[in-house]
Amino acid sequence: MTTETAPEAAPEQLEQAVRLLEAAQRIAVLTGAGASTESGIPDFRSPNGLWQRQLPTTYQEFISSPEARKRYWELRVPISRQMAEARPNATHEALTELERLGKLIAIITQNIDGLHQAAGTSPERVIELHGTARQAACTHCNTRSPIAALLERVAAGEDDPRCACGGYLKAATILFGQPLPRAELEQAVALAITCDLFFVIGSSLRVNPAAQLPELAVERGVPLIILNHEPTPLDEQANIVLHATAGETLAQIIALLRKRSA
Ligand code: NAD
Repeated sequence: MTTETAPEAAPEQLEQAVRLLEAAQRIAVLTGAGASTESGIPDFRSPNGLWQRQLPTTYQEFISSPEARKRYWELRVPISRQMAEARPNATHEALTELERLGKLIAIITQNIDGLHQAAGTSPERVIELHGTARQAACTHCNTRSPIAALLERVAAGEDDPRCACGGYLKAATILFGQPLPRAELEQAVALAITCDLFFVIGSSLRVNPAAQLPELAVERGVPLIILNHEPTPLDEQANIVLHATAGETLAQIIALLRKRSA
């Protein structure tokens, strides 16, 4: 389903969502690629998503094959440029407002674009489960550096850039087959089991372990709201499912919430 064809959320569903947010004090939000499509960054699985054009390089392929690293950079360079130019949209902005209202404990994000922080959410409240495209990292010594300098090297003709230690350089994001950062995953699990409302925004909930986080909350009786264009495997476990466009829907919900808490 594309952004253009997504139906609007029914007023009574919005009202139910606002009531759940009003009652909650410790809201954990999980965002996926659908939170950033309105900033012009395509998601993976939609009809015009990135995977319709090219399948991602796995970590094992990246480590073992110069051709795979070349392919990785061919895809990564335009994506990184797109992410560097992208600006936060109504979803990111509404979530900063939720923090201002004192209800947000954290945004656990599968996104690598840094747009929650760019919108003004406190960096310590953003848990980047899949890393960040704003930095580069060495696969051997894990030294971090700004991605822009590395992109310049690739643009200048290096299609297999190396670290001073000899390791391969890549964006500081998680490829399939690469373990998730341990501290972030532990923090995300702790948040999922201590929040009093779990809110999923713009995720197909098909990538584990991120997709298991709302289940941890539901197992403890915590209410779950899902806002996503398409159905997800967890829809049946959710208290409210909004098959609608994230930006305008969330903006309406937060505006109602703000009015009532004024
Ligand atoms: P996904 O591509 O699997 O799912 C995105 C979901 O968002 C889809 O179900 C789609 O219907 C929905 N969606 C798209 N636009 C929407 C909108 N405006 N409003 C409401 N729903 C919308 O993405 P995922 O679940 O995050 O998991 C896939 C992986 O994609 C993650 O590992 C993430 O790292 C990576 N990714 C990140 C970015 C980014 O940082 N912006 C972009 C592409 C992919």
